[in-house]
Amino acid sequence: MTTAKTGLTTKKKNSLLSGLPSVASLQQHPEIIRLCEDFPEKYVTKCLRQAVDAIRQTIIKGSIRNVSDIPAETDIVNRTETLVRTGIGNKLMRSVNGTGVILHTGLGRAPLPPSAQEALMEAATRYCVLATDRQTGKRGDRNSHLDELLREITGAESSLVVNNNSAAVILALNTFGEGRESIVSRGELVEIGGAFRVPDVMRRSGTTMIEVGTTNKTHLRDYREAITEATSVLLKVHTSNYRIEGFHKEVTVKDIADLAHEHDLIEVMDLGSGAMVDLRRWNLPYEPTVQETITAGADIVTFSGDKMLGGPQCGVIVGRKKLIDHMKVNPLMRAFRCDKLTLSALGGTLKLFLDPDRLPQTHPVYTMLTAPLQVVNRRARRIARMLRETLDERFVVEITDGATEMGSGSLPARTIPSRIVAISSISISADKLALKLRLAVPPVFTRIEEDRVIIDARTVADDEIRMIRTACRQVLEEF
Ligand SMILES: *Cc1c(COP(=O)(O)O)cnc(C)c1O
Repeated sequence: MTTAKTGLTTKKKNSLLSGLPSVASLQQHPEIIRLCEDFPEKYVTKCLRQAVDAIRQTIIKGSIRNVSDIPAETDIVNRTETLVRTGIGNKLMRSVNGTGVILHTGLGRAPLPPSAQEALMEAATRYCVLATDRQTGKRGDRNSHLDELLREITGAESSLVVNNNSAAVILALNTFGEGRESIVSRGELVEIGGAFRVPDVMRRSGTTMIEVGTTNKTHLRDYREAITEATSVLLKVHTSNYRIEGFHKEVTVKDIADLAHEHDLIEVMDLGSGAMVDLRRWNLPYEPTVQETITAGADIVTFSGDKMLGGPQCGVIVGRKKLIDHMKVNPLMRAFRCDKLTLSALGGTLKLFLDPDRLPQTHPVYTMLTAPLQVVNRRARRIARMLRETLDERFVVEITDGATEMGSGSLPARTIPSRIVAISSISISADKLALKLRLAVPPVFTRIEEDRVIIDARTVADDEIRMIRTACRQVLEEF
């Protein structure tokens, strides 16, 4: 009998299936035995069975047509290891970021630096002093642990950490602006990724939004003329994800701060990306820093922990102690507070900013940002070589110039020169190839340009090249 779809006889398929190594024989493979030392044997066997089953399915589908196309034993063992390590029940699996967006929100923004991983592991696996005052032995402030570090790095009087920057902005506006008026420039009524829209956030925080100025120009007098008895906050928002070029004016943090203080008001600055170092030291575009915002006189500054800081998802608030003490007792704090995992990982990340010169060595986000083009090019060539070895004649692999983005609304409309590997094929569309790469284990994320699948070598780590190869092999089998 011949199936119309695949053109392979049942007999041929059966003979291919019998060419597959058995689970029992693979269990004796030294690598599998070694895996069983680190993971429960039952779990390893389950993954092994899954890896073999996947190949069996491709034979039944007719995609594997010759004995020589059946993956080698070592290949099946490698796939089993990937399944074991990425976690069969864990769909939140590790993935390769070939998109060229360094802080990719969909891929979890920043990869954590080793110092954060260590701090996180210690807090995660042991008891820690999270909310205990060692002096009194009684309940303490979970925010006290990072306060010294944050004050040291930013020059602010005090600090507070919440679940993300959105929560930080809501907490600030609710604490100081509820039932009162908050003034904001029309040029800063931004939307940051879907749910965060400044007018909505202000309304939900219980403050009345008073818009001043125009989309492209706001003057200090616009703020001054809008101040009434009911005003309590002057809000400034960093327009972090787009740029206005040309006929444009916004009022500086310092001028708004001076005006606020003249009238006993509070300047709240939503800084968004929260750069802790001036990126120009690496010839990268300018991004306002937390330190200069504090120095300019902002009373409260909020920013994300997982944008330019490259730490875990959280929102950092720094500013005047008296004001931050008010925020700490807002009932919303209970809903916004962070757990030990976030705080420990943030601490491990923050301490790297005490020595900014070493960030390119100590922090993966800064390693990617500052890698010389030469280094990126060398990696692109390794990726291309591996792809040419792995893919067949239906694919064309080329290296060209490309551009990496910071992502997550940081460094808008600015890119970093990069080298990219482009894959095109006569027998599969770029959309379909990208889909198959995303569904592989481990998943590989790419971007599409001119019907080519692009892998940006700047956002791929050297040790991930073999993960891309594993994914490509799976794609080929499913053809
Ligand atoms: C990113 C951003 C936010 C939202 O921060 P999350 O940490 O993602 O909640 C708010 N405001 C600005 C200006 C931003 O850039």
